Amino acid sequence: MTPDAEFGYELLVCRYAELSWHPGEGTRPAVVSRQLGTQRRRWDTVVVEVDPDAFAARRAFGDRAIDSDLLHVVRHAPAEWAWYRDALPDPEYPWRYVREAVHRAAGRDLIEERRNGNRIQIRRKRPYPDWVRRIVAIENKPDLDRSAADRLADQLAHDVETALADEVWLATETTGDRVERALLREMPVEAGVLATDFAAGVDGDAAAVAWHPSDLSPTGDSRDDATTTRRLEIAERAYGKGWRSFRDTMRPDCRHFELRREGRALVPHCAAKGKLPTARECSGSCPQFAPEPPGWRTKGWPIDGGPGKGIGRLLDRRRDRERDETASRHRD
Ligand code: SF4
Repeated sequence: MTPDAEFGYELLVCRYAELSWHPGEGTRPAVVSRQLGTQRRRWDTVVVEVDPDAFAARRAFGDRAIDSDLLHVVRHAPAEWAWYRDALPDPEYPWRYVREAVHRAAGRDLIEERRNGNRIQIRRKRPYPDWVRRIVAIENKPDLDRSAADRLADQLAHDVETALADEVWLATETTGDRVERALLREMPVEAGVLATDFAAGVDGDAAAVAWHPSDLSPTGDSRDDATTTRRLEIAERAYGKGWRSFRDTMRPDCRHFELRREGRALVPHCAAKGKLPTARECSGSCPQFAPEPPGWRTKGWPIDGGPGKGIGRLLDRRRDRERDETASRHRD
C-alpha cells in the first residue's frame, strides 16, 4: 500500500476508534483526531479518553480548540473579579502576551473582562473542567514491511520513553496473512497491536487486539506541570480538529468530490479518479479539479452553496453527533 493509500486507512482507523474504543477493555467515551502531536513527534491517530460529565462541561466553552495561550487564562481565571496579573500564574513570558490572550478569551466568550481604572480585570464564566482521562496514540501501518517496522519501532520506543501518551498502539491490516509475526515481534513490548480487517468497511468489530499494550502513565502523581499542560494542549487540538477535518484541506467544492460509505465510515471519493484521493492531491492544484457548476448552487440547494457546502455541513453534523454521544455516555 502506498503512503497515499495510508491516508484512507487512517480515516478508517479513526472511525473504528470512534465507534468502539477501547478495543481491549470495554467501551470508553473518547474523542478521536488525527495527525497531532508535538514538534518532535506527530501521531497518526489520537484517541482522547474523556470523563463524560466533564466533557459535557468542556463543550460549554464552544467547538473550537482552546490554544495554549488561552488555556493559561481560562484555566486560572478566578471566580471573582481580579486584576489579571494577580489572578494568573507568572507566564514566564511577557505579560503583554497574556493581555492579548485575555482579550481573545473574552472575545470568544470564554471568560469575562472589564476595565477598572487602567487595570484589566477578569472573571471566569465557568470553571474549566478536568475532562481528559487518558491520551492514546495509534500509529497506522496497513502494510507492515521490514523498513516500516524499523521506523515504527523507533517511534514507538520514543513514545514509550516520553510517556506523553498513556498508551500506544500499532494498527495494521490482517487480511490475507499479511502481518508477519516476526515483524510484530520487533515492536516494543509496551505497544499494543491492533489487527484490523476493513475489507467490508468499518464497524465496531473490524479490529481485534493482537497484542495488549502496557499502561505508560507514571504511577502516582508524577507527571510534571509542563507535561500535563502539553497533554492538555494536544487534547484541546484533538477536540477542535476531530478527524473529519480533511474537508477543510480537500476540495469538496469540486464537482468530482463525493463521500463514499465504507461500512459505517464516510470517506472521500473522487469520481474522476475512481478512488479515494489524498489530501495532497485533492487540492486547488489538482489538474482535474472542476468547480461545481453555478446551477448546482441554487437548484435543489436552496440554503447556501451547492453539494460541496452540503458535504461540509454533513461532516460537521456527524462530528457534533459524536460529541453529543460522548458527552452523554457513562463509564462502564
Ligand atoms: S478531481 Fe481532483 S480536486 Fe476534484 S475531487 Fe478529484 S482529486 Fe479532488
